[in-house]
Amino acid sequence: MFDSLSGRMTGVFDRLRTRGALSEADVAEAMREVRLAMLDSDVALPVVKDFINRVRERAIGAEVLESISPGQAVAKIVNDALVEALGGAGAVPLNLNAAAPIPILMVGLQGSGKTTTAGKLGLRLGGRERRRVLLASLDTQRPAAQLQLAQLAQRAGVASLPIVAGQTPVQIAQRAMETGRREGYDIVILDTAGRLSIDEALMEEVRQIRAVTNPAETLLVVDAMTGQDAVNTARAFNEAVGVTGIVMTRMDGDARGGAALSMRHITGAPIKLTGSGEKLDALEDFHPERVAGRILG
Ligand code: GDP
Repeated sequence: MFDSLSGRMTGVFDRLRTRGALSEADVAEAMREVRLAMLDSDVALPVVKDFINRVRERAIGAEVLESISPGQAVAKIVNDALVEALGGAGAVPLNLNAAAPIPILMVGLQGSGKTTTAGKLGLRLGGRERRRVLLASLDTQRPAAQLQLAQLAQRAGVASLPIVAGQTPVQIAQRAMETGRREGYDIVILDTAGRLSIDEALMEEVRQIRAVTNPAETLLVVDAMTGQDAVNTARAFNEAVGVTGIVMTRMDGDARGGAALSMRHITGAPIKLTGSGEKLDALEDFHPERVAGRILG
């Protein structure tokens, strides 16, 4: 991930650094290259425009151009703008400020890595943070989905809601919350059904589940490999059901990275977590400054 973008960005700034004195034209030329590199990496056009404008405004000034190392100064401005595009300094933590059992709702398209991420969260919150976690699959669409989550829960060492045939997703959600209250769970992770595409039935189901569970977090899981589609999916989910955080999976793949850079600007929702593999411990907090550092090499 970010390999191509990073390669081109470092190329631009290596050249700027060796130049010594810089003119406005040098900066403009560098910004043209950065713009192309971002577009080639699938960063959404409005995000690229906003980014370039910000950098240009800050970089074209006597203070920067006449500084001792103007190339370095411009690189710093680009770094700061990257951090802003990625959501600002520091990871945004999960909001767990609610009365137990705290509901966390997982939403997303089928194949995005939603169920795996539910298992990863179970491991993190149950294992490392030692909270009592209950996993519940509300996916009545795919016959094997509830079983898949039960197996993941077992691997993560946390409980899963017993499967009762014939219940609707809303009924399962209510039963999960009742079980959570009765049996003293701290956190209930609710994994909703995914669909192949965004449809009104899916959104309505999520809205109903939200209404009966009042989740502290509604986490949208998106696949980084799907590029601009991941951003469009996020925008649609956010408009239809409200998303409090995004989990971007398959960061271990060779996605060009544009989705990560576009997400905050286009959807308003922060990327909170990333998935970097199939194993249950491959879940990381999203640190914009570290990602910016990786892009600039
Ligand atoms: P769901 O349909 O959204 O619930 O998707 P699943 O959780 O079943 O995941 C689909 C596939 O993606 C599975 O084979 C997972 O092991 C895999 N997967 C999930 N997250 C990641 C990730 O971060 N990296 C990689 N490489 N694979 C992942």
